[in-house]
Parts: sequence; structure tokens; C-alpha cells
Amino acid sequence: MSDLTRRALFGTLSAAALPAQQRASRPKIKITDVRCAIIGQSPVVRIVTDQGISGYGQAETRKVYLRPMVLFYKDLIVGEDPTDVERVMMKIRRLGAFKPWGAAVSAIEIALWDIAGKVAGVPVYKLMGGKVRDRVRIYNGGFRPVFKGQEPQHYAEVVQQMKEAPEGFTLIKMAVAFHNPAQMNAMPGEWYDEPRIGGTPHSNKGMLTEKGLKKIVASVEAMKKVLGDEVGLALDAGPGWMMKDAVNFCKAVEPMHLAWVEDMLTGDYSPYPNADLYRDLKMQTTVPIHTGEQIYNRQNFKDLIEKQAVDVLGPDPEDVGGIGELKWITEYADLHGILMAPHGIFDGLIGLAAHVHLAATLPQNYVAFEYPYGQPEWWYDIVEGLPNPIVKKGFIDVWDSPGLGVNFRVNAAKARLSPEDRGFFD
Ligand SMILES: [Mg+2]
Repeated sequence: MSDLTRRALFGTLSAAALPAQQRASRPKIKITDVRCAIIGQSPVVRIVTDQGISGYGQAETRKVYLRPMVLFYKDLIVGEDPTDVERVMMKIRRLGAFKPWGAAVSAIEIALWDIAGKVAGVPVYKLMGGKVRDRVRIYNGGFRPVFKGQEPQHYAEVVQQMKEAPEGFTLIKMAVAFHNPAQMNAMPGEWYDEPRIGGTPHSNKGMLTEKGLKKIVASVEAMKKVLGDEVGLALDAGPGWMMKDAVNFCKAVEPMHLAWVEDMLTGDYSPYPNADLYRDLKMQTTVPIHTGEQIYNRQNFKDLIEKQAVDVLGPDPEDVGGIGELKWITEYADLHGILMAPHGIFDGLIGLAAHVHLAATLPQNYVAFEYPYGQPEWWYDIVEGLPNPIVKKGFIDVWDSPGLGVNFRVNAAKARLSPEDRGFFD
């Protein structure tokens, strides 16, 4: 039996799995520092230990303000054994909240798993229960050409190009209605509220006119005509819908067999899940109803899951509290017949690695995670360990290197650091 097999079978962190000599000589590993750098627009967390091993985590690319929030947790976890992931998390998990205030806790959790895997010499998926699948399905919510307008034919043109992408995506998510300020702003007189601000974190909201509702439905019909039944179509549609508009829209698109409609009522940065309202919506349509990317912590999924308020959940590992947290929620959702399609568009390349390890271990209610991309493009040059090409026929092969298996090319990455973060890799 190989060392790797023995570790996988008998528990990699168990002292009993190590040869006696190694057990005696292995000193307890301790966290000595917690750092955060903003690389490009991406907050990266580095947990440093006293044994020359570091773990990396990442937060959503847009959260350039995260550095002080990460450092807030430093004194709470320095001195702890990072391979006791859960014990470390118990010290900080309660000090987080809905998006964006769970991001620092989440990035730290992912960095802890990276260390635990490196110390054990196994990929993170082994620590999370082992593989259910050798390749993981992703969905495309971000690789999208620029719209030339807001008429149905423009939607058709864009999904045509997405369908032809070399990644071979099997599932595409498109923004419509309140999730797409460009579409809403192109419809004067087609919905009632003023002023129109739009975009994250302020969400537009209000009642649609008949004309407005028809226009949104027409954009979906145009996309569906291109994708047919070959590539799945999901919609990110809110938040901001009034209940009856939401029901009428869903009924209108029912014949189109959408994968899901996301965040119609609450979502993105809403600091609550609103399970009762979602349950009302879900009971009135056959279209799968999806929410969850802004929600922090398993407790805040309790109502949505136990009331079977939605059909699909989509927490983001970089906001929910990490990959262990998301795994727990997925298992509990599975017990209640609810699907899992994690959010991830802005999670970056370390985030991509975290998604892959997690998705490999999820139960069969797993659908696909949202494929994150390196932003700016040079991010692909400062890390190593990702497959090439990353996506094949809409899937990513799960890799076997220790930890998350994606590491910095330190010299190249150093060149991208701002003066403020100059000592990040030292
Ligand atoms: Mg969304």
C-alpha cells in the first residue's frame, strides 16, 4: 500500500497513520502570521506557519477593501494549529456576516485547508471526504462578449458566441431584468419605479408594465432559440421583482426548460434570505428557483432548506464561510431534495482551485459551479498548478497535488504587488 493510499484510507491528519518515527519527530505546526495583499483587484490571504508552509485563500475580485478585515482575525488565530481547521474556525466564524462581511472568514478557512493538505501531503478533496467525481461540471456566468444592444437579437448573438466557446460550456447563465441594469434602462415606461440607479450594491426594484415583462421574456426566448436543448440556460434575474411579476414571468418561461432563475426576490447583497417569500414563489411555478450567493453560514440556510423554499442553492465559498461550510450546506440540502450550484464568478484562480476540490466531494445534488476567471489576465501567469486547458467540454479534471495544488510563481507575483504589500511573500 502506498503512503498516499494509506493516508487517504486511514485519515491524513491522524497521528496513528504516520510511522512511529515520524510521529515522534513531527512538531506541532503553528500559525505565526496572517497577511492580506490586493493582487490586481483580488484580495489574497496568506497564512504563515512556523514550519515553512503557507496556505493561500482568496476573496471576490471586487473586494479591494478587505485587507483590514482579514487582519482583524489575526490575533485570534495566531498560535493555533492550522490543520485543526474546525477548531480555528470556531474562534472566528461567529465574527462574520452576510456578503461582503463573510469574505475574510471564508478566505482564511480556504487557506487553512490549503495548509492542512500540504502538511498531510494530499489534495484538499481527500480531507473533505474524498472524490465523488473525477471531473467537475462548471457553468459560464462570466465569459461573455459585449452586447451590441438590448434587443432580443443582441441576446441571441451573445449566447451564440458563448455556445461556440472552446471551453464547450454545457450550462450558461445570463443576466436579465433587475440583474441587468442595461436591459432595464433600455426600457423607458416599461417599469414604474424612479429613480433608476441600478447595479451592486444598490438594486433597482419595482413593478413592471405589461410591455416591460414581455420584453424580458422575448430576450429569454431569443437566447433559448440559439441554445436549444444542447446547452442549458440559467437566468440571474434580480433581486427586485414584485411577487406577482415574478410569478407571471416564471409562468411565461415555463415551456423553455430553464436550468434555474436566480435571486428574483432577494440576493446579491440582501442581508437576509426571505425563505417564506421564496417558498410562495416556488409553489407557483415549475421553473427551478435559485438563491443564496449572499448568505453567510449554515444557520442562515436553515429556513430555506427546511421549508424547501427553493429548488437550487448557490452559496459562494468565498462568502459563505469557506468550502467546509459549503459542503455541510450541500449535504443538508441534499437531505431535503434541493440542488446545489455554487456562485463563483469573481472568486479568482485560488478560488477556482477551492471550488474544484469542493465540487469533487459534493453529493449528487451538485449541478455545477460558476467558473471564476483570472482578473486581470496576467493572473494566469502568476500561479501554477492549473490544468491546461483548464476547461474541457464544460468540465475541469480534478488534480492531485497537495493542498489546493495552485501555488504562486513568487517572482512573477511579486512584480505585481503594490508598494503597500511588498513583503507579502517574504
Ligand atoms: Mg447572482
